[in-house]
Amino acid sequence: MRITVLVGGVGGARFLLGVKAALGLPAVGPGDSEHEITAVVNVGDDIWLHGLRICPDLDTCMYTLGGGIDTERGWGRSGETWTVRDELAGYGADPSWFGLGDKDTATHLVRTRMLRAGYPLSDVTAALCHRWRPGVTLLPVTDNRVETHVVIDDPATGPKAQKAIHFQEWWVRHKGELPAHRFASVGADEATVLPAARDAITGADAVLIAPSNPVVSIGTLVDVPGVRDALRETSAKIVGVSPIIGGRPLRGMADRCLTAIGVETSAEAVARHYGARAEGGLLDAWMVHTGDTAEAPGIDVRSVPLLMTDVEATAQMAREAMELAGV
Ligand code: GDP
Ligand code: CA
Repeated sequence: MRITVLVGGVGGARFLLGVKAALGLPAVGPGDSEHEITAVVNVGDDIWLHGLRICPDLDTCMYTLGGGIDTERGWGRSGETWTVRDELAGYGADPSWFGLGDKDTATHLVRTRMLRAGYPLSDVTAALCHRWRPGVTLLPVTDNRVETHVVIDDPATGPKAQKAIHFQEWWVRHKGELPAHRFASVGADEATVLPAARDAITGADAVLIAPSNPVVSIGTLVDVPGVRDALRETSAKIVGVSPIIGGRPLRGMADRCLTAIGVETSAEAVARHYGARAEGGLLDAWMVHTGDTAEAPGIDVRSVPLLMTDVEATAQMAREAMELAGV
């Protein structure tokens, strides 16, 4: 069976642990299976900082599935130290708001060196995964640079002036508190979907959309030209899992992102925002948490427990998703 999952960072990575377990693989690390899992990963959070290329969602997936994640924080390396960050601060080297751990920095150094030598991000990711052996093929949705920017007010320039800042600056530095007018996928116009990611979607037996941020993880990912076409073309069913439970995101600030694009923070509103595949949208089916409801024309809705409290609970979610996809 070929299962392809569209993912962002923490929510996506945790869901992948469950997909692996549901298919009889160890949640963490590699294993033998006749099944093939491919994760198509958002690159919209990627950023150049201090001369290093940083890919937060790819790294969160790689560390989580490979056993290197800090499980408390949900991102970054376990047993991390912060000497590099502190030394950079000693020089007053901006930006200081991004937590660059020492171990993590080694990943960024290897990645940046390979990118500078001319390797595409997909090859670099595969090389990094030689160490981490995530048991899942991790594919950046594109080898091109596509970065999420946030349009905010710019009172310094004029009363109605606006400017765009990188999503990481809005999210990490300003904690998502600056009112956002909209999000822009900068570079998407010139980008194309990674051919292997397109093939993983069109050739899948089931396509799952992880409970990732609908705006800046899944939204940016499907903005990459070629992704929606692949989703339209695939004969697999597409099943989405709601990241919104009881009208709230479980962690993070997806509500702020949804509000910015005029979508209510509810499982139903996200389903309608994704839309039914029959009507040019993304979904054949949608899973909401027990007690939540969603009325979404053309979408098969199922209500099941969606709390990823441990691997077994998450594996059960994945089993339900695969059953809804008819595999
Ligand atoms: P990020 O890139 O690190 O922000 O992570 P993602 O975009 O992949 O996932 C963030 C989303 O995961 C948030 O909107 C949360 O609501 C969702 N999430 C986190 N934990 C859970 C969980 O246990 N169940 C569900 N259904 N969603 C979750
Ligand atoms: Ca992310």
